[in-house]
Amino acid sequence: MSAATLEAIREDLVVQHATLVRYGLVVWTGGNVSARVPGEDLFLIKPSGVDYDVLSAADMILCDLDGTVVEGAHAPSSDTAAHAYVYRNMPQVGGVVHTHSTYATAWAARAEPIPCVLTAMADEFGGEVPVGPFAIIGDDAIGRGIVDTLTGHRSRAVLMRNHGPFTIGRDARDAVKAAVMVEDVARTVHISRQLGEPAALSQEAIDALFNRYQNVYGQAPQGSLNEGELA
Ligand SMILES: [Zn+2]
Repeated sequence: MSAATLEAIREDLVVQHATLVRYGLVVWTGGNVSARVPGEDLFLIKPSGVDYDVLSAADMILCDLDGTVVEGAHAPSSDTAAHAYVYRNMPQVGGVVHTHSTYATAWAARAEPIPCVLTAMADEFGGEVPVGPFAIIGDDAIGRGIVDTLTGHRSRAVLMRNHGPFTIGRDARDAVKAAVMVEDVARTVHISRQLGEPAALSQEAIDALFNRYQNVYGQAPQGSLNEGELA
């Protein structure tokens, strides 16, 4: 691990946290983004209780995969144990995000999966956005709930029951994109339901949309995060 690599990840985390603010996904000091250090049993995460306005690259906390602080002047995010559990158990994941964004958290409060009724949902999530178990902060329960729900699932987002969304990605930006998108579809499907039941998408259409978006669309499609998914 070169110092330049670590510094680049720190700088990227500043950008990714600013993106949460730009899209209105966080209030006060809530929410957090982390990034795995490639090739090392380490990740960087936001410090606890630091205002987004003053969050700097140097503030990011370096932790090992048990969530123990290796380097940092502040306490790490209170969700550090959950992030660490995901990195330990999902080697394909390089970034994790948590917010209490309004619409996604409203679905989490109802413990209701967001049904896949939009082409954009089929593209991004390959089906419904699932609900994870109710879990109290403090041990591995949240991390275990995330991993158990998303393992073998196409979705990069899980709505932890009565809590809010956690998202995963190949890197921090990919996980932030999922956090932005899950809030967007949570809002749209919520509004759609106000005047009736949204029309269903067929599984065939969902599969075709997901495969095209993950494997063909864009400048550099990276394929599904779900290792069981055929390209
Ligand atoms: Zn939370």
